[in-house]
This record gives sequence, C-alpha cells and structure tokens, in this order.
Amino acid sequence: GKYVYSFGNGKAEGNTGMRAILGGKGTGLAEMSALGLPVPPGFTITTEVCTLFSKQGGNYPPGLETDVAKSLTMVEKLTGARFGNAHRPLLVSVRSGARASMPGMMDTVLNLGLNDHTVRGLATQSGDPRFAYDSYRRFIQMFGDVVMGVDHHHFEDILDKHKKVCGLSLDTELTAQDWQDIICEYKLKIHEQTGRDFPQDPRMQLWDAIAAVFRSWTNARAVTYRRLHNIPNNWGTAVNVQAMVFGNMGDDSATGVAFTRDPATGENALYGEYLVNAQGEDVVAGIRTPQQLTVAGRLAHRSKLPAMEEVMPEVFQELNAVRHNLEKHYGDMQDIEFTVQRGKLYMLQTRVGKRTASAALKIACDMVDEGVINEDQAIMRVDPGSLNQLLHPTLDPKAERQIIARGLPASPGAASGHIVFSADEAERLSHAGEKAILCRAETSPEDIHGMHAAVGIVTTRGGMTSHAAVVARGMGRPCVAGASEISIDYKASTLSVRGLVLKEGDLVTLDGGTGEVMSGFVPTIEPELSEDFSRLMGWADARRKLGVLVNADTPGDCRKALEFGAEGIGLCRTEHMFFEAGRIIAVREMILANSEEGRRKALAKVLPMQRHDFAEIFRIMHGLPVTIRLLDPPLHEFLPHGEAEMNEVADAAGVSVELVRERVIKVREVNPMLGHRGCRLGITYPEIYEMQTRAIIEAAAIVAKETGVNVEVEIMIPFVAMESELRIVKEHVDSVAKDVLMDEGKNVHYVVGTMIELPRAALNAGKIARQAHFFSFGTNDLTQTTFGLSRDDAGSFLPTYENRGIVQGDPFVHLDVEGVGELMRIAVERGRKTRPDLKLCLCGEHGGDSASVKFCHELGLDCVSCSPYRVPIARLSAAQAAL
Ligand code: PEP
Ligand code: MG
Repeated sequence: GKYVYSFGNGKAEGNTGMRAILGGKGTGLAEMSALGLPVPPGFTITTEVCTLFSKQGGNYPPGLETDVAKSLTMVEKLTGARFGNAHRPLLVSVRSGARASMPGMMDTVLNLGLNDHTVRGLATQSGDPRFAYDSYRRFIQMFGDVVMGVDHHHFEDILDKHKKVCGLSLDTELTAQDWQDIICEYKLKIHEQTGRDFPQDPRMQLWDAIAAVFRSWTNARAVTYRRLHNIPNNWGTAVNVQAMVFGNMGDDSATGVAFTRDPATGENALYGEYLVNAQGEDVVAGIRTPQQLTVAGRLAHRSKLPAMEEVMPEVFQELNAVRHNLEKHYGDMQDIEFTVQRGKLYMLQTRVGKRTASAALKIACDMVDEGVINEDQAIMRVDPGSLNQLLHPTLDPKAERQIIARGLPASPGAASGHIVFSADEAERLSHAGEKAILCRAETSPEDIHGMHAAVGIVTTRGGMTSHAAVVARGMGRPCVAGASEISIDYKASTLSVRGLVLKEGDLVTLDGGTGEVMSGFVPTIEPELSEDFSRLMGWADARRKLGVLVNADTPGDCRKALEFGAEGIGLCRTEHMFFEAGRIIAVREMILANSEEGRRKALAKVLPMQRHDFAEIFRIMHGLPVTIRLLDPPLHEFLPHGEAEMNEVADAAGVSVELVRERVIKVREVNPMLGHRGCRLGITYPEIYEMQTRAIIEAAAIVAKETGVNVEVEIMIPFVAMESELRIVKEHVDSVAKDVLMDEGKNVHYVVGTMIELPRAALNAGKIARQAHFFSFGTNDLTQTTFGLSRDDAGSFLPTYENRGIVQGDPFVHLDVEGVGELMRIAVERGRKTRPDLKLCLCGEHGGDSASVKFCHELGLDCVSCSPYRVPIARLSAAQAAL
C-alpha cells in the first residue's frame, strides 16, 4: 500500500476524503496545499503505519524508509535546503494528527534537523545567532523529553539556575553565548539520565521522533482521552513531517490562531489572536498576552496592544483572503493556525471550528443567505443538544466562580440562591420574594411544590432519570443531581463538602448544564430566542417526519411547550396534580381507607380539582391532541410521614390515628417501583381510574362546549404487562366515558392506549394492540426493567461502567439500541401487524435526546414526547434524521 502522502507547492497527494488514513491535520494540510495556499511543504505518514507499528512490535512495513526518503528529497527541492547541510539546513516539525481531534494528548517535536553543525548554518542564514541557539536548545529540550524520556523539569532547572547565576529574569535577556552554555549542560544531562548521547544525525533524529509520535498514541493520557470520547483504539495517529517556518525570527515574524468567523457570536469577520516574534507553542502556553487580529477585536477586548490589521496590514489582508478561500472551499467556519516568517504568511492547520449554539445558528443562516450552503446543510450544521444553551439562562462567562462540588448535569440552566433543605422552606422563601436553591439527598413527588418554588435543585443521590432530574427538566429548573461529595445534615440544616460547611440561607450557584455547584453568587445572562432560531426551526419542521409532543402537566409547562413548537401533549402525568397543596390530604385519605366506600368518599373530593386542571390544559392546548396517563406511581409514594401528617389524615377521614398508622404499614412496599402501581392500581382500586376518567371526559366536554373546538383526548394506561390487564381497564374506562358522553359528549373524541414500558408488554405487543389505539414507549421504565437497573440508584456505579467503556453512555440518557431498542422494534412490528394504524410514540426521557430521536425515526414511530425545553432539540433531531 501507499504509506506516505506528500504536499506542497500547490499540490497534494491526499485530500479531505482520506481523513481516516491521513488524520485531521494531514487532510487539512493536503487540502490547503492543493488550493494553492501558502503551506510549508511536507508529507504525512498514514494511520495504517501506526497500527502496523504497534502490531509488529515497533517495526515498519517494508518500503516505508524509501518512501520517506523520497518525500524528504521533495521537501528539500521545494525549500532549497538540505537535511543535515551545514550551510542551508532543512529543519522540520514532526506532529501527530489523528482522525478525531485529541488536543494535546500526543507528542510533537519542532526544529528537528538541528545539530552542532547545522545550528551554525541557521545562525548565518537568519543572521541571528541568538535565535539559532535558542531554537537548538528548544529542540534538545523537546526531543530529550518526548523521544528520550528525560523529564522537562531537568531542563527547566538548568535554565533557572543559569539565569540565577547571571542575575537574569527573562528568557529574552539571554545571549547566544548563554544559550550555547545551556546547550552543553542539556546534553550532559541527557547523557547522565539515559546513558546515550543526544543524536547528531538528523535522519536518526527523524526516525526516533516518528517512532515517538506513533508510540504516543498509546500513552496513558491518550488512552484515557479515547475512552472518554469513544474514539476507537485501532484508528491510530498519522505523523506529519513538515518544513519548519519560524514565527520567532524578529518583529516581522509572528504566530497565531484564528477563526474564520467569531465562534461566540457567529459574526462574519476574522477573529483571533497572534503573538509577534513567537513560536506556535507560546500562544497556546499563554505566557505572553496575545494581540488581536482585527481593530474591532482590539476594541472589543479593550486591548492596548495594536492589532495585526494595524501592524502588518498586508499579511492581514492575505490572511483574510485565505479565510474567504477556505470558507468557500469547506462551506463551513474554520479554525486555523498560521505563522508569519519575516513578513511571509504560512498556513499550518485548518479544521472545522467549534462554536457556541448561537454562533452555530447565525453561521448556518448567514451561509444560506450567502449561498454557501443550502437549507438541508444548515439543518445538519447545528448540534441539537447545543440548543439547550439557548433556552436557559447561563453563567456569565466573564464571572469568577469557586466550584465546591460536581454532580450530573441533570437539567440545564444556571441559578444562584439561598440554600434551603426542605420544599416548604423553598416555598416560604419564594413567597417572600427570595431565591431558593433546594438541596436534598433526593426528591420525591411530595417536593414538587418546593422544586417549583426553587430557582434550582441539587441532590446528592440519583441519576439522570431520578425524580429530581426528570421533574426539574420538565419545569425547566436547573438541576445538579447526584453530587455525592456533598453531605446534608437535615437536623443541623447544614451541608458539608470537603471540609467546607454551608448553612441554610447561604448563597450558592449551580450550573445544571455542567453539573457544577459553586459557593456564593455568580451572575447569569438571560436567553433570547433569535430570528435565526425561528428560521432554522422552520426549515426543520418542513422536513421532519416525526411529530414532536411534550411531557407536561401544568398550565405553565403547556404554554412554554407551545412557544417551543410542541404539537400536543404526549404525556400528562396526573400524579403531579395529586400532590398540590390541599389535595394530598384527600389523596392520603383515599389510599388509607380500607373500604371502597371510604375511597370513594375521598375521591369525590379530588374529582372537581382534577376536572379543573384538565379543563385548563384543554383550553391552553386548544384542540391539539392531549394524552393523559391515569395514575401510575405506587401508593407507597403518597404515604404520610410522621405524626403530624398522620393526624391530618385521621382528622380528614374521621378515623383514629392508630387506624391510619396500621394502614400505612400495610401499604408500605419494599420495592415500590415494581409494586402496586400503574394498571395494577386500576384493577385493584377501579374507583381511582373511574374518578380520573370522569374528570377527563367531563373537562373535555366543558371545554368543547365553551370553545366550540373539538377536544382530542387519549387516555393512556401505564405499566401494562398483559393484554388481559389492558382489556379489563379499558372496558371500565369505556363504560365510564360512555356514561359521561351520553349526557354531554358533543365534540369530544377519545381513544384508549397504553404505555409499553415492560419487556413483557413489548414481546406481547401483538396481543396488547387488540386493546390499544396507540402505544407510547415508556423508555425510562423499559430501560430500568430491561437492564434490571434502578433508575433512582444506578448513579452509584453507572459512572464506573461508563468510564470503563462497559456501556456507551448512560442508558437512561441515550437509548440502548441493542437491548431496549430491540424490544421496541419487536413491539412496533407485532403491534402494527395486529393494528396497521396503531399510533406509536415514545415518551421517556429519551424523547429529548438527539441520538435516541434519530433511532425513533428509523423505527418508523409517529412521534416523540419530551419535556418542554427539549422540544426544539427533538424537532431539529427529527429533521436531521429525515435528511
Ligand atoms: C417511562 O417510564 O418512560 C415514562 C415515561 O413514565 P415515568 O417516567 O413516569 O415512569
Ligand atoms: Mg414509566
């Protein structure tokens, strides 16, 4: 095979399509060279060689040496310099470059080709001995460290000592003679540490450096980085050998990095920084303050240093021309590196530039207007997950922050407020006009009012589908979940983290997008939905096949969701309404009654409240489909805690507190998530579903009459495993609905369907579909029951599984296609066989995850349903899936 690809002088053997073998840097250099941009000549040794090299224990495939020699000769011809020549020495850089960007993980050697002879050539050629010897010592240091394994602190110690002895403080004060002395000491140190001399033969230097770069593919930090970013180990890195150009040859030389558009705002202007008289590494190292490229940039950064546009206007114009050239060629914003050697511009790298979500939107829309890309391409350009950044307040990037703990980024957005440890206290503070951050070990449905009242939520236990995470996302409250370093002492009203103790009322800030908890107040900036956002969403809607619905159960959520483009409600969880103030007592009375009569008495109190809530939702949704799920959670979750709550219930029910206590013990469950919940409640206590059905249908009838708009209701039965369960519940729902509709059923249309959230239901979908007009995949429970993995507790070990690559990401966040997805596929196939017009939806948390939405599209579902703030993500993901 061909293992070496040359570039230079307006030509290149490689191109963008060869990224797998040339790596990112290699294809960028080849492509720029072929475009006729000023690229120092060089060649790329392919990633295949890296793979062979490690497989064959450090041996190269036959013919590689000849190919490298040939390519090197070409570089010599193009530069007029010779490798190892004492008068006009060729110097090269040797750099890694993998298929996926792995910034700083692998090794680089610069100034290679220098030795005791060629350094003199560099001195005469540059007319600057100081520069030449500085370059030589940099090379020895880098080579010594990277290739020969002599830790860089040895070299730094020598340099520091030398400066001290001479009474100097800055590197720039050192003379050529100083550097020569230091070089001697460096060489001695290398010999002392390795027993070997620093190699003087440039060819030996080259092959040693190439081997070192290949070997750096398997160094510990690169291996870790790949594991964390899911980059396969067998990809390998390419090695790029390229003629050196120097940005440190005086004040007409410079080095810099730039974006072809502003990566923060998307503004169509060159954006970046440079350093006069410096080598590339100096910019990254951040030792000197870089200067801005443009005058506008200088003003925006309030920099006192002149911009490149002012100092080197011609080179700047040339760089700006390169910018247009690259954007036209790639059709996307680029991130570039360049060097100016004595007034001449050289390009060293180009790649697609990272950008903020708002910049991504603006760039995509602008490029459509500029005719650079079409609308389909624009849709593909924006990462759906990044839209999160746009919809929530974010921390002011300029603000200082002191991070005290990290947890899971459970619900995005940022907020500051006073610590509270109970839902009631959160509510009290909020009524008093103050901001509360609710800190809990975990939350339960009883905390809803406090979560709503709080501006942010922190839990110390639980994962991405824990109660706190799901509810916070639904409400659009920022949430950090499972911040396990924090421990809460409810009695003392304090929390402590690594020796720091914070009291109730102390200020904290959290960033639910990163999972960080900070002490004190950090300012935030408010989101604004731009014109670009609406345009891109419009293009997306015109292309997607999947419907996008919302999981919402409060009027506020419903309004927000409509604003974000939801086409209906895919999941209204009625249990949240049970916890509202004033209702929970009646609900508890119902649970704890030991007769049907007692339950009916309590349910009669709840009926008007539920009817009122449903009516409000139907009004807001104004004829859009609304899927309401009948009661799902185990009764266990509604039990009273403590004496006071038990007394309350006893009073309301007119029974003794002893009786209440007895019943609490009876109702309590060891494993409530697999217990008395879902349709099992509907079967054992049919009066509950009866009340709910009545409330739904009556509300629908009221709103239909009031507005004249048809109301479309879908009644959804949770936690069904068997056809017989659904048949029994459906018959009951139908009979109640028929009763109500007889009296006032004009313009109300309802159907009954089921959640598919148990493996048995997926496997028996063919039978279950006989009873169901629609399926909605409850992938939270389906993931939990397929893996046998608790959605509330998995956080304690799942991170280990992720880090070790046992699972690719949290299965409660990204749908497990192989297992859960397979069950869905079976259910879709069997369900549709029974009922070809079966409507299929997904309403687990995965409905707002980009990759999972794409899977739903491929499965041929009709819709996905997700929390309000994720509706735009789902719309865009669905469009991308359809393209
Ligand atoms: C599910 O299980 O995926 C679901 C949507 O229901 P819940 O999260 O309320 O259990
Ligand atoms: Mg469920």
